[in-house]
Parts: sequence; C-alpha cells; structure tokens
Amino acid sequence: MKEKKLLMIPGPVESDPAVMQALGAPTTSHTAPDFITSFGNCLRMMRQVWECPDGQPFIMAGSGTLAMDMAGANLVEPGDKALVVSTGYFGDRYADLLRRYGAEVTVLKAEPGETVEPHEIEEILETTDFKLLTVTHVDTSTAVRVDPRPIGELGIKYGVITILDGVCSVAGEELYQAEWGIDVVLTASQKALGVPPGLALLVVSPKAMEVWENRKTPPGNFYCDWKHWLPIMKAYEEGNPSYFGTPAVNLVAALEVSLKMILEEGLDERVMRHKTLASEFRRRIKALGLKMIPVEDSISANTLSAIYYPEGIDSGSFLAMVNQAGVIVAPGLLPDLKTSYFRVGHMGQVNASDMENVVSAIEKSMGL
Ligand code: PMP
Repeated sequence: MKEKKLLMIPGPVESDPAVMQALGAPTTSHTAPDFITSFGNCLRMMRQVWECPDGQPFIMAGSGTLAMDMAGANLVEPGDKALVVSTGYFGDRYADLLRRYGAEVTVLKAEPGETVEPHEIEEILETTDFKLLTVTHVDTSTAVRVDPRPIGELGIKYGVITILDGVCSVAGEELYQAEWGIDVVLTASQKALGVPPGLALLVVSPKAMEVWENRKTPPGNFYCDWKHWLPIMKAYEEGNPSYFGTPAVNLVAALEVSLKMILEEGLDERVMRHKTLASEFRRRIKALGLKMIPVEDSISANTLSAIYYPEGIDSGSFLAMVNQAGVIVAPGLLPDLKTSYFRVGHMGQVNASDMENVVSAIEKSMGL
C-alpha cells in the first residue's frame, strides 16, 4: 500500500472521516425521503454559515467555476456593464466569464500580492453605471484577502449587484453576507467546507433574485438558468421530491455532515482557528527567511499561504523534496510568477500538528 501523504494544497483538502463515511454510504435515490431531508438541511445550514437568513441557497453538481458561471449567467444580460476587481488569476477568470454573457467588463487589477483600496473602486463606480461588481474574497493564486465590507457598502450606495467569489474563503474567513450587503456569495465543496470536490454552492440575496426575475432576455446558459433550479431548491426545502438534473447524492450527504460539524464548532471559533494557524505559520515561514506574495499580514488569507521558493533552489525539485518529506503542497498559479512561488492550503479540518508537519517538510527541503 502506498504511504499516505498529508494533502496541504489550497483545495481539494482532506476531509474529516465522518464526512468520508457519509460520502461512502450506499447511494440513495434523489427522491428518497431521507435524501430530501438532507438536501433541505443543507440549504438551511448554508443560510447560517453564510450568515444570510433571507438568502436563496443553491446546491449544484459541479465545481466552483460552475458557481461563478451560475451567478454570471443569471445576472448578466448582453450590454450590461460589469466591474471586476481582480487580485489574481480567479478575478481575471471572472472577467472572461462575464464577457461570454455579453457584459462590457472593466477590470480593476491589483499588483500581485496587493489588494485594491475601496476609494479606487468608488472612483470607477462614480464614472459609469455598472450593473454588477465582482470581487474575489481570497484569490487562491496570490493568497490575498480583500475586505468585502466596503464592497457591500459601495454596492448599496451605487445600486450595483455585488458578487463575492468565496471559493477559497467560505467557512474559513469571516463572512456576514446579509449584514455586509453582498448579493451573491459563491463557493465550492472542496475548500474550507471540507467536502471532496463536486459541489457548487451559492447564496443569493432577495435583491439579486429580483434582478434575475426582471430580466428582459433568458440566461444564455440552459443548465445554469435559475428558472430550472429555483423550484428544485424550494421543493427540497419544503420536503418534496423534485427533478431537473440529478443531484450529486453522495456529496450532498457528505455536505450535510460537514455543515453540521462547522456549526457545532461555531463560526467564530472556526474562523479564529484558521486565523491562529495561519498567522503562526506565517511567523514560522518568515523566521526561515522566506518571503510571501501578500505584501502585508493584514491582507494575507487565513486559508492559504503563497510563499516564494528559497533562493537557489529549483522550484520542481523543492516541491519534490517537500513531497518526499510526506507533504503535498501546490505550485504557483499566477502566469507571470508561477515558477517563483508555491502555495500551502490550511483550511477545513486543519490543525496545529498538520502545520507543524508542513513547516518541518519545508525545513528539510531547505536542508535545515
Ligand atoms: N475561485 C477561487 C478563488 C478558487 O480558488 C477556485 C479554485 N481554486 C475557483 C474560483 C474555481 O473553482 P473550481 O476549481 O472548483 O472550479
């Protein structure tokens, strides 16, 4: 049997054994009463985890990109103006995605490792009548975290729908969707939610649902159209069987277990655990003389770290040595810099001993 390595990439992450047990239970019918109850429980718990009591949750079979696509397809009509705040690879991806639906996209791009100041966003909002604004809470390519609070405020002030890509943040970083006034917060199962990959998840505000209801043209994407999925989500929550496309039955069962564990841990406690582990990890990494992509601690994510390779060490052999030491970390992702840094994910069920193992694997690979 192969030796089990510690998976410390920024998604997928390792899942709790209870989550894996639920995933491995015999597959049931998507209209079985127990499954309907589980699906309804997941939707209700999503409102709690997202802190959005009046939001409409959606659970789809797919990855985080599908969640991005679903928000784009339903909220953009050809000719709409969209402002994309990009702090890395996934912000740039959102710009491409929105253009597919006919949006006229303006990109406000941060330098690698930096964030965008709210006043810079406001200056652009003052000049143009945007319908939509997207922000990546934590861009997984840079480990930069953007503060969503001012973004929500600006969305309300300028009447713009705000979409937060929370793929690398939900259940690992602070989130108060309703209080902050964010219209859509989307994520995927394989990151801080601690479930294997395969689910796209969104919570949509009443305001954004109304914008969708008042569309002049149908969404240019059949699968994503909320017209098909809204009745399904409502039916599951009301305890009724329903069908549009077959749900990922086993993953939904796993999600239910994970969401329960998240709420049992407590959202504040969970965010604090991520924060404590991340800041201690950064301290240890800096003590080794290594530099990080985010230019300041205050904008460094709690869910992952992006670290420049030690000087004089070839990137490929460094990753191989870390792997040899029993830990899987990820290469860089920003096209211009990807051979200069690597990424360590620390989200989900991660604990202090996992972090200790990563530090020690890095130390060994540096010959320390
Ligand atoms: N946005 C962010 C911030 C991400 O980290 C990712 C995945 N790494 C995505 C979107 C896309 O998600 P997926 O790979 O699940 O399609």
